[in-house]
Amino acid sequence: MEATIALAGNPNSGKTTLFNALTGAHQHVGNYPGVTVEKKCGTFTFNGKSFNIVDLPGTYSLTAYSLEEVVARDFLALEKPDMVVNVVDASNLQRNLYLSLQFMEMGLPVFIALNMMDVAQKRGISIDIEKLSALLGVPVVPTIAKNGKKGAAELVETISRRLGHDSDRQADLSLIRISYGNDIDDALIKIEKIICDHSFLTDRYPARWTALKFLENDEQIVKLAQQHGQLLERVLPCDTCQCDPDSCTTVQQISERCDTLFIKKISQIVTLVTDHLKQTSGTYPEAVIADHRYGYISSLLKQGIITHHYDRDRLQISDRIDKVLTHRLLGPMIMVAVLYALYYFTFNYSALPVSWIETLFSLLGSSIDASMADGELKSLILSGIIDGVGGVLGFVPLIMFMFFFIAILEDSGYLARVAFMLDRVFRIFGLHGSSVMPFIISGGIAGGCAVPGIMATRTLKSPKERLATLLTVPFMNCGAKLPVFMLLIAAFFEEHKALIMFLITITSWAGALLAAKLFRSTIIKGESTPFVMELPPYRLPTVKSVVIHTWERTWQYIKKAGTVILGISVVLWAMMTFPGLNDAQLNHFEQLRENIKISSAKSFSESERVSNSDMTDEIVQARLNSVDMEQAKVALKNSIAGQIGSSIEGVTMFAGFDWRTNIALVGGFAAKEVVVSTLGTAYSLGDVESEESNTLAQRLSKSPDFRPLTALSLILFTMFYAPCFVSVVCLARESGSWKWALFSVVFNTGFAFTLSVVIYQAGSLLGF
Ligand code: GDP
Ligand code: MG
Repeated sequence: MEATIALAGNPNSGKTTLFNALTGAHQHVGNYPGVTVEKKCGTFTFNGKSFNIVDLPGTYSLTAYSLEEVVARDFLALEKPDMVVNVVDASNLQRNLYLSLQFMEMGLPVFIALNMMDVAQKRGISIDIEKLSALLGVPVVPTIAKNGKKGAAELVETISRRLGHDSDRQADLSLIRISYGNDIDDALIKIEKIICDHSFLTDRYPARWTALKFLENDEQIVKLAQQHGQLLERVLPCDTCQCDPDSCTTVQQISERCDTLFIKKISQIVTLVTDHLKQTSGTYPEAVIADHRYGYISSLLKQGIITHHYDRDRLQISDRIDKVLTHRLLGPMIMVAVLYALYYFTFNYSALPVSWIETLFSLLGSSIDASMADGELKSLILSGIIDGVGGVLGFVPLIMFMFFFIAILEDSGYLARVAFMLDRVFRIFGLHGSSVMPFIISGGIAGGCAVPGIMATRTLKSPKERLATLLTVPFMNCGAKLPVFMLLIAAFFEEHKALIMFLITITSWAGALLAAKLFRSTIIKGESTPFVMELPPYRLPTVKSVVIHTWERTWQYIKKAGTVILGISVVLWAMMTFPGLNDAQLNHFEQLRENIKISSAKSFSESERVSNSDMTDEIVQARLNSVDMEQAKVALKNSIAGQIGSSIEGVTMFAGFDWRTNIALVGGFAAKEVVVSTLGTAYSLGDVESEESNTLAQRLSKSPDFRPLTALSLILFTMFYAPCFVSVVCLARESGSWKWALFSVVFNTGFAFTLSVVIYQAGSLLGF
């Protein structure tokens, strides 16, 4: 069987770069079951042998605080890879080894790939690799993942060599025991014994590791222990669970005793140490454990492993750049300029490819229009599929450009500075520094997704700050809202597109922060907690990693258009087409057409002048067209969707939304991109006979129902109204109750509607 190798390590240590260098095209991306954490698998061959390799999510630790951490450690414990390659950033050894220690405590067959050796060298750090390997008791191989295959050559050789010898593999089981001080060590031994007696997770983890997790109050382990307790109910006879057989008259009683005994015994010990530590030194077991791990590392490194070569006066380049980029005044100004530049380049340089795609789709549309007979199938293909999906795909170049620039910001390390600077602002609004990442992931700069954003709130430890972040994260401009904005901008604010997009971003932040402040001073009141954030050193992004990041995100967007959006487009098309007009109505329009033809024939015969016939023809055609248009409009209004849209028009009118926009907004609850595709369908159904094949933006800007103020109101509404269906489900799961999910739907929609009404009414009064 092929050996499985897992790449594990801190974020940005170069795992993915190494993974790409090793696997090349032989990789595929999926998700871990049930969660939105990305799973990258691949294969590579060396000397005729092939290996499976998995790129695990990057983590700093192995607690259960973040989803990434749970995913990574579950993979390691359950899938039991044959080898764990711990990718370590050589320029940041101290911090990176913190995780390595935990792998070793888990008793994994680990070995260290000491990556970024070039960076370490540039910074004048040299590392005694042999000594490090000897002290840790695991093999250490230097790599430069950025140099592709060459940089990973030694690594591959070592992997293949070590996996070749089973005896060596045994030696890789590098269990270490770190001492955590008397109090904790005593407790660990006691808990370890209980764990072994009850065989709790002993097939997954060393008992000492599980015991440590109990002391760290690890959610997942505690939950598993409860389940284990329930399991013991059924299988353990009384003598094993040590309860008194005399009083165990019924199975029920036995079970209760076993269950409570197992967990109670452990939690008694945990409570005892916790209280003791709190009284004697005012700390928690968690903190003591972390301190000892860091202590272990620093004593290790002090033994001559690291030598610094750079001259003392020279500040590290990164620090010097930070002096400017995170300066109190200059920093925010530069940040605003960078973001503005991002929009400027994105919009100006993507205009051409966007127009190509739009032309392509309208050519496709008109050729189908010409070659197919009229009927429902043609309408489905033209209105349902081409206009719906085409409207969404038309934005691919734009989205790709945006992702491209964001990938550069992210890889260079600047995005972390943005988070760092925004932290100061966040405290004012009752949020936490760690809220910044969920916001950015959800689209804080542009084009994210609230679903991973909601997941990312797991890094927040204070439940109140977490809830406030959860509830406001959907206000960000996710990748699905962008096409809606871009469509409306293209239709109404073409001259100021970059500026408007920039303002939209600012507005979404303002809305989110104000809402957070509101929540934090009413329904979720409470103190804020302190924050420490590490700034990774600046790095020149590699073309390869930027291209891969851009492509991955773009492809996700395209896939969504091809699946979810296509399905919704077709359903909405059907809702907009059926039940259609009844016979009386059809006759009415037929009659109108006849009348026009008859009266024109009459006037034509009356006027003998042939020279005027062209003009008469034109007038007739125009009249016929307007009848067709009226018919299509009546049919749409009569459709299921039209009826729904019309029934709420009385209310939405105050915000400037007609029934067609209403249909689109209701569809947008399924996925925000659908707003564009539905408007595409609604407005193409309305204007069947437009002479030229117009783009949707042109059709909107010509429509009498739409003016710039309507567009503005619609932009604001789209920005703030109910999160999409998937986000709502995640929100319910993450906040632990449907109550908050429902609250979010109602609050956001109410908030959005109020804002739109105010803007629309004020604008109308001022004559816009
Ligand atoms: P991951 O988060 O661990 O998957 O890290 P990535 O593979 O995405 O790498 C983060 C950044 O570090 C990217 O911009 C890489 O190009 C860069 N990088 C990775 N390995 C090296 C290396 O050995 N040397 C240098 N200078 N940069 C590297
Ligand atoms: Mg990665």
